[in-house]
Amino acid sequence: MIPFVSRIDPLEQDAWIKTLSVAMPDEVILPFSDLTAAQKQLCDVAIVANPDPQDLLALPALKWVHSMWAGVERMMNELSSPPFSIVRLIDPDLAKTMSEAVLAWTLFLHRDMPAYAKQQARQSWLQRPMVRAQDRRIGVLGLGELGKVSAQRLAQNGFSVSGWSRSAKKIDGITCFHGDDGLTALLGQSDILVCLLPLTMETKGLLNQQTLSRLPEGARLINFARGPIIDDDALLVMLDENHIDHAVLDVFMQEPLPVNHPYWQNASVTVLPHISAPTHPVSASGIVASNIKNFRLTGDIPPAVDPVRGY
Ligand code: NAP
Repeated sequence: MIPFVSRIDPLEQDAWIKTLSVAMPDEVILPFSDLTAAQKQLCDVAIVANPDPQDLLALPALKWVHSMWAGVERMMNELSSPPFSIVRLIDPDLAKTMSEAVLAWTLFLHRDMPAYAKQQARQSWLQRPMVRAQDRRIGVLGLGELGKVSAQRLAQNGFSVSGWSRSAKKIDGITCFHGDDGLTALLGQSDILVCLLPLTMETKGLLNQQTLSRLPEGARLINFARGPIIDDDALLVMLDENHIDHAVLDVFMQEPLPVNHPYWQNASVTVLPHISAPTHPVSASGIVASNIKNFRLTGDIPPAVDPVRGY
């Protein structure tokens, strides 16, 4: 028996439990609220989607939890030193979806779609200089599960791609940077900057006045990671000064983005409602099922989030 622990809408929770149950016919998956006191004593693994930390702490035998999401910073924040491992979703299908979104919105910026939309609104027939893909330098912050596949997809489409991570990396076709000096170098040569970093103590506010000003004049920005990685006030100033030409933002400090937030009305910002890479229930359930089946057979817990690194 596996509890599904979540604070998501009850109908959505039921749908998740149904899909997970199809993927795990040998397991009984129950909402946390349906567990008896005796069952709570026995659970060694739980499946979670934005769980209430108190619910998890009420399961004394818990060895690990499997998140249905790729980003687990909220759980990491709410549970300072959890007595169980946190395993996040690593789904190749999700990486494909994210790389598709990164490619789509990079092309949107690369082919000057925001500028042509503004021109059409003023009936202006003006051909802007064409920039070849190989002459457009894309910088990808984060070369993990999502960043690496996205960087490779951009390179396959002819762009000149660099990436930045914490540890040194070698990836075919990608110029890899790491560390503080690496960040400065990457920013200085990113016509389009794509953020795919996890939100941690180190990445919160990483894109601020100082770092954003290192981007070339007229650079463009895509944030598909987490809102608090960007200092919003700094970005608004940079957009105002045209140091940054356009930003595509899918994630925000507060979601939904408050109706009075200046991003909504800013013609240099494309606001997306956190849609770049939604978890797909069927593919995600397949991954969770296979990890839990392996745990039942071998006792092995999949690689977990490192509580010190925060991701
Ligand atoms: P991941 O596999 O953990 O990769 C994280 C990458 O960031 C790694 O390359 C890591 O470097 C690098 N990194 C972390 N901290 C760093 C630092 N302080 N300095 C330099 N590099 C650093 O994560 P992922 O699966 O690719 O996911 C990334 C994020 O995407 C998630 O955390 C989530 O917030 C977001 N996301 C958004 C959506 C959406 O719909 N908008 C959907 C899914 C996920 P190393 O390789 O050296 O460790």
